[in-house]
Amino acid sequence: SNKSSSHAFLGAIDQGTSSSRFLIFNSENLELVTYHQETLSSISPKPGWVEQDPIEILETTKLSIGVTNQRETTILWDKNSGKPLHNALVWLDARTQETVDFLLEQSGKDKDCLQDACGLPISTYFSALKIRWLIDNVPNVQKAIEQKRCLFGTVDTWLLWNLILNDHEHVHVTDVTNASRTMLMNIRKLTWDSYLCNWFGIPEHILPTIKSSSGIFGYISEGALKGIPISAVLGDQQAALVGQKCWTKGSAKSTYGTGCFILYNTGEDIAYSRNGLLTTVAYKWNDEDPVYALEGSIAIAGQCIKWLRDNLEIIPDAKSTGKKVTKKKIATSVEDAGGVYFVPAFSGLFAPYWRSDARGVICGITQYTTKAHIIRAALEGISYQTREVVDAMYDDSHVRLARMQVDGGMAENQLFLQMLANIVGIPIAVPSLRETTALGAALGAGKAKGIDIFTLDDEHKFPITMETYVPRITGSVRDDNFAQWKKAVIKSFERIE
Ligand code: ADP
Repeated sequence: SNKSSSHAFLGAIDQGTSSSRFLIFNSENLELVTYHQETLSSISPKPGWVEQDPIEILETTKLSIGVTNQRETTILWDKNSGKPLHNALVWLDARTQETVDFLLEQSGKDKDCLQDACGLPISTYFSALKIRWLIDNVPNVQKAIEQKRCLFGTVDTWLLWNLILNDHEHVHVTDVTNASRTMLMNIRKLTWDSYLCNWFGIPEHILPTIKSSSGIFGYISEGALKGIPISAVLGDQQAALVGQKCWTKGSAKSTYGTGCFILYNTGEDIAYSRNGLLTTVAYKWNDEDPVYALEGSIAIAGQCIKWLRDNLEIIPDAKSTGKKVTKKKIATSVEDAGGVYFVPAFSGLFAPYWRSDARGVICGITQYTTKAHIIRAALEGISYQTREVVDAMYDDSHVRLARMQVDGGMAENQLFLQMLANIVGIPIAVPSLRETTALGAALGAGKAKGIDIFTLDDEHKFPITMETYVPRITGSVRDDNFAQWKKAVIKSFERIE
């Protein structure tokens, strides 16, 4: 580091679903100084099951400062040995469907019965269901709980427990944004809720301490960054909201990585959705009041592009679904999707439907359909799902989004961005600095008391420019196509017995 100047560097660990990255920003001008990326593998022992090795998650992130992570992913470990009791159940993992059905049947309630307490519908997605599945199905977990050796953590908690030693002690902590995805935290009080814990049959002694998103969590105990404080923890989608500078009520961002997550800042208000959106904590700086968000979560976005590559093998790589990037320009070899609609409901549909029984559908295929049409239909399907969430946000808030800021792996795809503008019908803005998730974590780290190296209000410190894509189809074409999409979604709920 350059000690001669007054400014400092902000590091960020971005522990995503498909990779772990470490990035360093210059706190003076928020320039990305350097980064390193390690890809992370997933294990799928059965259809719909998605696991990761907690040790691999850790090994790909041994550096740090601000931490941002894939959310909901659930790890249980033994506090004496430090060893995982099972692989991580990844947020996408849908094995907990039976747990969901069982809990709903047992209680005689519907999926929204806990919304008031935690802001979320009962779904396979959230950590509480995954913990409950592990308790019910893994004898080792039961035993460790009885013997009070079992610790639960989302990925942030697991990383911090391993990276930090405070006076030779591990820390068992999480932040409010990650805790707000477990279904066990009271969304108003920001503490573990014993009603919720009882409802799911989860003992409170396995849960970490909930902290603000910024603050000194502890100091890194070994390696090149030994002694450096970890001073922020944020769930990856909340970090992207911060990194996109959506700090005021009414601003929104959408991230297109493995899945797609649209967050709408509702300020200090706790908004409850009637349309399948989640109420979640956006961030809480130090001892300030928390800021909340409404979220539309879409399970499958970039994952569908991966599927075209790995399962159908109709594209050599993700970027060949875009334009100006390959000689072949597969997707742009045709004008449109040729009437094909693709609903990528691989693990059910999340927002706004929350139907885990939904399955993928490709319909409208004719003699003339080519792989180019299917690829376009996939990109459009991701865009239509976004439109559904934006409509739900309008219905809940009666405020129309003036524009949406996007990021994530798919934001590199210009063809997709134009489709998104056409289908959603609002301008789509892409920031010049794409690593918004890591930037959000770095900004949070700089915000911590005792670090205080940046002020959120200083415009000059935010030299990020936006490129904007505007809608280029008429409203009536947009609405007609959207009506067709809705019919395709209904097909995704139908079963062929
Ligand atoms: P995550 O944080 O979930 O690990 P990333 O933001 O790193 O995800 O994005 C990776 C995803 O984006 C992959 O699923 C990949 O298929 C998709 N992707 C990457 N580049 C492109 C592209 N140019 N066009 C379409 N999809 C892309």
